[in-house]
Amino acid sequence: MISVVAPIFNEGAGVDRFVDRLTEVLTAAGLSHELVLVDDGSTDDSWDRVAARALLDPHVRGLKLSRNFGKESAVLAGLEAAAGDAVVVIDSDLQHPPDAIPEMVRRWREGAHVVEAVKRNRAGQGLVGRLGGRAFNRAFTGLTKVDLVDATDFRLLGRPALEALLRLPEHSSFFRGTSSWIGFRRSTIEVDIDPRAGGRSRWTFGSLFRLAVNGLTSFTSAPLHLVTMVGLAFAAFAVLLGAQTLIRWLGGDSVAGFPTVILLLLVMGTFLLLGLGVIGEYLARIHEEVRGRPRYLVQERSDAVASLPEQWL
Ligand code: UDP
Ligand code: MG
Repeated sequence: MISVVAPIFNEGAGVDRFVDRLTEVLTAAGLSHELVLVDDGSTDDSWDRVAARALLDPHVRGLKLSRNFGKESAVLAGLEAAAGDAVVVIDSDLQHPPDAIPEMVRRWREGAHVVEAVKRNRAGQGLVGRLGGRAFNRAFTGLTKVDLVDATDFRLLGRPALEALLRLPEHSSFFRGTSSWIGFRRSTIEVDIDPRAGGRSRWTFGSLFRLAVNGLTSFTSAPLHLVTMVGLAFAAFAVLLGAQTLIRWLGGDSVAGFPTVILLLLVMGTFLLLGLGVIGEYLARIHEEVRGRPRYLVQERSDAVASLPEQWL
């Protein structure tokens, strides 16, 4: 059986379209399946639609988180609830083409443990988003050796890979990174990312920046080493400058250079603050892990709806 896990946050009318489309594709491919729809604390009628679908269709299971925990947590909730032999994670806004699922399943049957969809294009993203996304993926790949270039969250994980992923204890999970980090036999297919079918993207510059910082800090301590390296470079520079000043002073040359002092002060100040910021990010990460709070809380499950007293149904 294939489990399809989809996070939903204020998708409104898109939910029905999404479920219809998926059901169509999975049924046509003759795959036995379940849809695990995780409502990430939507404030619109998304959950009512999920619950209604779950009531009518035994293939559909719904999970409502108690508030908006963010996409990463919603995906995790879905993965933990999934019962299939393979799990496909897909966005619920139809940007990830469901038609690719049968091909992913074929690859899995041929022996791949993880099938990743990489994007051939980036439709529905502005220039800044495109460049930003690409720059981040390249930087991440360079710093961590976990290949994220053109990666998406649209992935299939076989049961063993899924179990491995769920064993990772960290709180701020970064699905795209962790599902690569685990290794296993991998395969990639190319997909076209479609523009959103409706509604709008929930990512703001701020939340994307957080995702990027979280992703990086949970995968590498390279930024910390970078701070050390920059510190060392400045120390070397200071020694050279000190020597030069001393020699000129010995030669009777008066020491000038007010602008140099200001500039150095500014540069040093900037790097000091940046360095502190980087350390702060890691400290925050440790703090979060140490607190050990659950990564999401479930408020309602659609299975519970089915057991309501008969007169309520
Ligand atoms: N999503 C979520 N919680 C959030 C934000 C988004 O579950 O806090 C879901 C959303 O419903 C969609 C997917 O994550 O299925 C991708 O979100 P979105 O389309 O806003 O991001 P983009 O495609 O622009 O990266
Ligand atoms: Mg989207």
